[in-house]
Amino acid sequence: KAVVHRICSGQVILDLSSAVKELVENSLDAGASSIEINLKEYGEEYFKVIDNGCGISPQNFQALALKHHTSKISEFSDLYSLRTFGFRGEALSSLCTLGNLIIETRTKNEPLGTHLIFDHSGLVTAERKIARQVGTTVTVEKLFSTLPVRSKEFSRNIRREYGKLVSLLNAYALIAKGVRLLCTNTTGKNSKSMVLKTQGSSSLKDNIITVFGLSTLQCLEPLNLCVSEGCKVEGFLSKSRYGSGRNLGDRQYFYVNGRPVDMPKVGKLVNELYRYSNSKQFPIAILNFIIPTTSYDVNVTPDKRKIFFSDEGALMLSLRAEVEKIYYPHHC
Ligand code: ADP
Ligand code: MG
Repeated sequence: KAVVHRICSGQVILDLSSAVKELVENSLDAGASSIEINLKEYGEEYFKVIDNGCGISPQNFQALALKHHTSKISEFSDLYSLRTFGFRGEALSSLCTLGNLIIETRTKNEPLGTHLIFDHSGLVTAERKIARQVGTTVTVEKLFSTLPVRSKEFSRNIRREYGKLVSLLNAYALIAKGVRLLCTNTTGKNSKSMVLKTQGSSSLKDNIITVFGLSTLQCLEPLNLCVSEGCKVEGFLSKSRYGSGRNLGDRQYFYVNGRPVDMPKVGKLVNELYRYSNSKQFPIAILNFIIPTTSYDVNVTPDKRKIFFSDEGALMLSLRAEVEKIYYPHHC
C-alpha cells in the first residue's frame, strides 16, 4: 500500500515546479500577503515556502499530511463552486512520501508556533514549540529521494527543473495582487542569490513592470474581452510589429480565475495570428480567463495544470475573432 501511494504521489508531484506550486497555492489559500521561497542547490537539497497566512491550528496537526485531509471542502458539491486553489488534500500527503516534510506554523490564537516533523507515511514523529510569527513554513528536503530512479533524473535535470520553477514563479508574480513574492537560491557554502522579488503591487500592469520592465510593458496592448456568455479575458498581448526578437514563446502566461494553467491551444492561436503579421517572433501573452467556476474542470490531471472547458469550441472561436481585431484591424 505504501508503495502504491508513493507511485500515485509521483503523479501529483511531477517535478520541482509542481511541488512548489502546491505550497505557494496553499499559502495563497491561507490568505498570505507575503510568500518567501528559499531553495538550496536549486531545490535539490531542499525547498522551503514561508508565508504570513492564517497558520494551521493544532487540532489539524495529526491528520495534516494524511491522504485526503483538507480543511477546504465540506461537502462534495463544494467542488463545483471552488474558489481556493487546493481542495483535494493531496499535496502534503504526496510530498511527505516523496521527501522529508517539516512544517512550522502558528495561528493568531496560539502564543507560540509549533515545529512538526513527518515521516514518509504522513505521521507526526516529532513536535516542539518554537517562537515564530503567525503563518506557516513548509520545508521539503530531498524531494524524490524515496523514488531512486526519479531521484537520479531529478539531480541530472535540476537546472531545467529550476528554470521551469522560475517561470512558474513569474506566472504568480504577474497575476498575484497585493502579495509580495520573494525567491532566493543558496548554493555552495553560503552564496545566496535573489531569484525574484516583487512588491505586491495592486495591478497586473505594475506587476509586468516589476517582472519584465517598463520597456516590455510598452510593447504590450491591454486586452479586455468578453468572449462569450459570462467569460471575460483580461490581460496583455504583444502589439503587432513590436517585440524583443528574443521572445521565443517563453513569455506566455495563461490563467483561469487567477490560477496559472497550461493552455497550449490558446498559445497556438495567438502565435498563429501574431506571426502572420510578424513572422519571426512570438507574442508575449498574459491572459487571465475569468469564467464561472461551473463552466470548467481542473480535475483532469492530478497536477491541475490542464483544464477542461465545457464549451471550448465556442470560447476559442470568439477569442480568435477578438485577437484578429487586434492584429488585423483593417479586416474587421
Ligand atoms: P489542500 O490544499 O488540497 O486542502 P494540502 O495537502 O495542500 O491539501 O493541504 C492540506 C491542508 O493543510 C490544507 O487544507 C490546509 O488546512 C493546511 N495547510 C497547508 N498549507 C498551509 C499553509 N501554508 N497555511 C495554512 N494552512 C495550510
Ligand atoms: Mg493544497
